[in-house]
Amino acid sequence: MTSRLSRLAVALVATAGATLGVTVANPAPASAAMTICYNTSQAGAYAGTANQAASIWNNATVNLTLSANCGSNLRIYQITGGGSYAVRTSLGNGRVYIDTQQAAQYSPLRIMTHEIGHILGLPDNYNGNCSLLMSGGSAGTSCTNPYPSTAEANRVSNLFAGTFSATDRSADIFRDSWPSALTTVG
Ligand SMILES: [Zn+2]
Repeated sequence: MTSRLSRLAVALVATAGATLGVTVANPAPASAAMTICYNTSQAGAYAGTANQAASIWNNATVNLTLSANCGSNLRIYQITGGGSYAVRTSLGNGRVYIDTQQAAQYSPLRIMTHEIGHILGLPDNYNGNCSLLMSGGSAGTSCTNPYPSTAEANRVSNLFAGTFSATDRSADIFRDSWPSALTTVG
């Protein structure tokens, strides 16, 4: 907690310094550090998983902090059937849906951190590489890695530093190809 706060303070100071003397016609958010309040009231059995995923992202990134139940930038839902997916309404805002059937087959924490990754600006990268978080279900059920790679984490940090691309901060829906438990298990 202390290190995160001090890191945040450093980020704020750095931002203030960088802003001095610079005229910005269309300014970025006043603070580069965004608090993403996530709400687990609808997360059912996955509320604890959401908290774990938030800690993973907080430890891996700068310029953003996921914080529990202080608002509803991000709502987490438990659903059954239809697949896990994420709806990003804008960078850092949206909804994540965790399918109980998929979570019985794949690591629930990996699904959760992956789907939150979409809310944080990352696209899918279905290349089967378990060391990547955004490879999702393509890495198979044996892959339980819930951690973003350094490149994935740095990309998120950069996105929240204000170096956005139009695509990464846009609204989008990520229907994931985590294979259905029903079709695989039967
Ligand atoms: Zn995905």
